[in-house]
Amino acid sequence: MIVVMQLGATEAQIQAVAEAIRAKGLEPLVMPGDDRTAIGIPASLTPDQRMTLEGVLSRLEGVNKISETSHPYKLASQEYHRDPTLIQVGEEKIGAGHFAVMAGPCSVEGYEEYREAALMVKACGARILRGGAFKPRTSPYSFQGLRVEGLKIIQQVARETGLVTITEVMSADMVEVVAEHVDILQIGARSMQNYPLLIEAGKSQRPVFLKRGPSATIDEWLLAAEYVLNEGNPNVIMCERGIIAFDRTYTRNLLDLTAVQVLKAQTHLPVIVDPSHGTGVAKFVPGMAKAAMVAGADGIMVEVHPDPAEAKSDGSQTLDQAQFAGLMADLRRLSDYAGVKL
Ligand code: PEP
Ligand code: MN
Repeated sequence: MIVVMQLGATEAQIQAVAEAIRAKGLEPLVMPGDDRTAIGIPASLTPDQRMTLEGVLSRLEGVNKISETSHPYKLASQEYHRDPTLIQVGEEKIGAGHFAVMAGPCSVEGYEEYREAALMVKACGARILRGGAFKPRTSPYSFQGLRVEGLKIIQQVARETGLVTITEVMSADMVEVVAEHVDILQIGARSMQNYPLLIEAGKSQRPVFLKRGPSATIDEWLLAAEYVLNEGNPNVIMCERGIIAFDRTYTRNLLDLTAVQVLKAQTHLPVIVDPSHGTGVAKFVPGMAKAAMVAGADGIMVEVHPDPAEAKSDGSQTLDQAQFAGLMADLRRLSDYAGVKL
């Protein structure tokens, strides 16, 4: 439920509305706007609670209208936060017109290998370095990542290169150690509905990069974001990484670029596209990355490796230096048209 105040409503009138909401045991969210203030109630109310509250609030001075939000998510919605969210990590800006490029190998394979990949990322002009230390693999016999050793490598390489870092955290009990070593916490597609993990990541106050579950609807994905936001952590980045499709003959997943446009209409949170996992095929990655920029995405996450054929995971969807440099040059050319800073 949202209470929209009249133009020129006084601070005392705004506070009276907030107090009346608190008196019902609910926490108001006061959102000053350019012209008028709105006060949100980020909770699901029963029809009875709603009627009683509406009765109380509509009698208060300065109230213009009371409306129901039509979405199950609240804090992620544009009703609650009109302006696009800008997430700042060190010097790096993500969202609100700033196009972020996150690049690096699928997995951290060793110090030398990771350093070489990081230098390649930097040479091509990207500023955010990815790489998994904890890998969610379909088979328990596949490479599982270097775990805490991998985190130490990421931190060391970040110190040497000045790049911002992002890595996946797979369980709630690992949030603390991952946050000690890396800037942005990635929640993988398989973990999108791991609610204890979302809550712990929310509590950490670190930027959270939330990948869409392979069969998650957009509402389920936004509700997953809501878990993080509800812990008082406003720094959530949504990542479309492809969904399950009926035809997977030629691609690993179906990259849902429509989701970018839908999210842009529904939420204030930045939206990133991962064409590497979205297609599973290196030669399709640059085209879909450029399409993502034109579709209004706030950035991309791409897998790159100095020698993709030797990568310990996801080599077939990974770009080499020449391919990544070419993509960055194309994105720079497109950025004017898309109206974003790269
Ligand atoms: C990854 O980014 O390496 C990864 C495992 O992605 P996803 O969770 O989208 O499968
Ligand atoms: Mn991967």
